[in-house]
Amino acid sequence: MTLFTCDDSIKLDDYQKLLLSKHFSQAGSNMMPHQLAASLGLKYSTALLILTLLGLSERTKSSLLIYHNCDPSVPAGAIPYGTGFPKLPWHCSLCEEEVEDYSELSFDVRVTALDPIEFI
Ligand SMILES: [Zn+2]
Repeated sequence: MTLFTCDDSIKLDDYQKLLLSKHFSQAGSNMMPHQLAASLGLKYSTALLILTLLGLSERTKSSLLIYHNCDPSVPAGAIPYGTGFPKLPWHCSLCEEEVEDYSELSFDVRVTALDPIEFI
């Protein structure tokens, strides 16, 4: 069990902390900023801040999800977060195309818990 202390920069009430603790109660649980924003009724920027801080923990793994225009709803790849953007040309595993332009790609962040996390 990893404890994640919500300091003053993260204004979560006890119920929100409980929901987050429940979500991350198993190793391998993951969350993306828009999911966090929707489930707790937070602004996207607040959700991104929480996941960024959570991603600094050694007990989490952060990934940059890569989406291609061919299917914007399914990630076509993922690389460790913080290593920059994928190199071009980038091979899309969904449509097998070689992508030459970042404008065809979009990105999101996903934080995965390596241990259960309790938000306090
Ligand atoms: Zn594609």
